[in-house]
Order: sequence, then C-alpha cells, then structure tokens
Amino acid sequence: MKTIIEPFKIKSVEPIRFTTKEERQQVIEKAGYNTFLLHADDVLIDLLTDSGTSAMSSEQWAGIMRGDESYAGSKSFYKFEEAVKKITGMKHIIPTHQGRAAEKILFFIVGGSGKYFPNNTHFDTTRANIEFTNAEAVDILIEEGKHPEVRADFKGNMDVAQLKRFINEKGNENIPLCMLTVTNNSGGGQPVSMQNIKEVKEVCVKHGIPLFLDACRFAENAYFIKKREKGYENKSVLAIAQEIFSYADGATMSAKKDALVNIGGFLALNDDELAMQCRNLLIVTEGFLTYGGLAGRDLEAVAQGLEEVLDEHYLQYRIRSVEYLGEKLILAGVPIIEPPGGHAIYIDAKRFLPHVPPEEFPGQSIVCELYIEGGIRAVEIGSVMFGKYDKEGKLIPPPMELVRLAIPRRVYTQSHIDYVIEVILEVFQNKDRLRGYKIIYEAPMLRHFTALFEPIRK
Ligand SMILES: *Cc1c(COP(=O)(O)O)cnc(C)c1O
Repeated sequence: MKTIIEPFKIKSVEPIRFTTKEERQQVIEKAGYNTFLLHADDVLIDLLTDSGTSAMSSEQWAGIMRGDESYAGSKSFYKFEEAVKKITGMKHIIPTHQGRAAEKILFFIVGGSGKYFPNNTHFDTTRANIEFTNAEAVDILIEEGKHPEVRADFKGNMDVAQLKRFINEKGNENIPLCMLTVTNNSGGGQPVSMQNIKEVKEVCVKHGIPLFLDACRFAENAYFIKKREKGYENKSVLAIAQEIFSYADGATMSAKKDALVNIGGFLALNDDELAMQCRNLLIVTEGFLTYGGLAGRDLEAVAQGLEEVLDEHYLQYRIRSVEYLGEKLILAGVPIIEPPGGHAIYIDAKRFLPHVPPEEFPGQSIVCELYIEGGIRAVEIGSVMFGKYDKEGKLIPPPMELVRLAIPRRVYTQSHIDYVIEVILEVFQNKDRLRGYKIIYEAPMLRHFTALFEPIRK
C-alpha cells in the first residue's frame, strides 16, 4: 500500500510565526500559564480545537461569493436545506449560528425540571443547555469507554442494559428524548456502532421516546463503521450516514466540525409540532426561518462542506492522519487514550506524569511544556476544566487527567504532525523535570478559560 497523501493541493497559504523558546517562556508567563490567554499569533501549531478551524475549499470560497443575502427565501437556504435533507432524510431543517444554538432551542422546549436526558456522553454545551432548564443530563456509556488503555472498536457505544434500567426507574413520561453523540467527543472521539444505534432505537421505540443525534462528527463516525463493522465495508459513507440518520427522529449539529466551515449549525426534525415550536423560538433568538443567525454565504459554505466531508479520500486521510500521530506516540511509550479517536489524540496525563498529583494539575503542566518546547497549543481536559471543590475546599478531581491535541481539518500536513511528534517525545523524555502548577486566580464558572497559574517550585 502506498502512502496516504493529503487529498488536496494548497492554493492559499497563511504564514505561521516562529518564536524562540525564551520568547515563549515570557509569553506563557505573561498569559498566567493558560494557553487560552495566548495570542494565536504567538502559537506555531494550534491544536486547541477542531471546531471552526477547518480550511475551506476553493468551491466553498466560491460559494461565499455566490451567497444570496435575501432576508427571506434566500437561494442559499434552499441549497443548504437540500444538502442537509440528502444526508439526514429529515423533514424540517432549521439553520442556527452554531451547535449550541440548536441545543438551546431544542432543550428550552423539551427540557424543564423533573426531566431526564440520557446520552452516551453529553458534550459540555449540551449538558449546560439541559441543566440550564433544571433538567438532568445523564451519561450512559459502556464500561470499555471509561478506560483509556482498553482498545475496542466502538468505545462510544451506549450501555443498552443500563438505558433500559434508567427508563424503568425514571419513567418514559419524564424522558422527552434520548441522545447519541457521534462520535463521542468528550469520551475521546470514539465512534458508536450501527448495531448500538439500532439497539438504542429499539429501546426508544418500545418506550415511545424519540432518539436524537448530536451529529457534529457524523461523517467520521460513518467512516469508522465502514472500516470496523461487519457488513458495511462495501457501502458508501453517504449510505452509511443516511442509515445512521434513518434511526433518528431529530438531530443537532455544529457545522464547525464535519461541515468544514468556520461558523454554522442546524437542528433537523421530523415532528411537525416540535418543528413549529422550534421555529417560533428561532425567530426570537436566532433569526428568520431561512437564515437562523447565519449569512446566506455561510449557508452556501455549509452545503458545499457537507458534500466534501463524505469524500472517502478525505475521510481516509483525516482518520489516518490522527491515527498516525497516535501510533507514533504509542510506539514511543507515550500513554494516550487507545485506540486514537476521529478528531483528536488524548494524552493520559496521569500516566505521563505520575509524580504530579491531580491537585497540581499534571495536564496543565504538559500543556505549558508543549508550548514552551515547541510552540504547540493543546488543552487540558482534567482537574482544571472539570475539577470541583468539597466543603473544605479540597479538590474533587474528575476520573481522567487528559491533554487533548485536536487536529483542525485540512490545515496541517504530515510534516507539521511529524514536528508535533518530535516535540511531544522531547517533553516525554524530560518528564521527570516537569513540575505541577497552582491556581492563583479563578472565575466561579468555566474557570479553565480565564484561570491564572503559577509553577510550583520545590
Ligand atoms: C462542538 C460541539 C457542540 C457544540 O457546538 P458549537 O458549534 O461549538 O456550539 C455540541 N456537541 C458536540 C459533540 C460538539 O463537539
């Protein structure tokens, strides 16, 4: 087999700015050792997120020029609607400015106190939008999905037996819908199998509960099904995606992921009554039915992106380039969540820095060192992001301490990734030198965005 190459040529380039290690040391100190507070211009390789960071194609940029900016009934809306319907098969397509806006509208209508929402793993904005209505968001993930070192094909699957028990316990009248997140972002970008989707659907049908998809990475999930699930190896990724959506009654989507655009999202629904309620709320909060918080040109770019993301050469390159990074790290003994997910590699900071306890934020220590050593920006997903305090002010750490390296779509080439590998291995070799951090300022909510740190000197 020959090398899998980037399935595109580069027409427009954006220079990245090189800095010295000394400069980076000063810059990160000034930013309170929080990579969210860095100026992007001081970052060489930015792996903070894969959201809204995709490179658009020449056809998408051409679509930007073709965008019809009519307030109502824009030509671009109908193109967008057709593209979404082709994949989802759903009756009502409602554009929103990003994924969380679709969530906000949906859960404002179906949520409320006394309501429960099961999901394989809620993404943080989904959880926040549910809890904002005083409803409860409950994660029902299979056991394998909770262990970073366990290799399995579909670690994003929902635990069906536990879902049944959950419905019996809470009562189907208190569960307005059940959700599956494909791929499971917060669980390491791990896919959900078609078998699991079918089984969850069966349970939902039996209890009269609609099944919704958080479909941000539907194409990556469909590709994993093609590669790993029996009976799908000869189906097109489009056909697999269509089958996934055929089991769903609705979906929320952030187009900033698998629609290859910088902004956008949608809500797709089959239920007429619910769609009417959502559209009423859309007009109050987002905009008119045919643009929903987006410009006509954005709708064009989404329509085109949804076509391109299902190209199998693209998906092969996409999944393989993330896997390549993961493989090289595993080979060198760097502990990561296995197997590599679709959009990111997650370093297991607990095993990487066993001498730094959770109270001293081992993930943050690695994140800072990756920046100082090589100008790479990653993000901590551990005690900084999800840690809580008990009554005595002692840290209650989350189950895992991770560092996420999210790979933007179509942005970096293999040599960028080789450079990232070199920097991580360098940091790994010197890991005994790494020290913990303490927080010197934090906001009451979502502290990871603005917290300030100081290295602990011993
Ligand atoms: C990004 C994301 C969202 C929220 O989408 P935004 O466009 O950032 O508002 C919801 N669910 C999942 C799984 C995501 O990855």
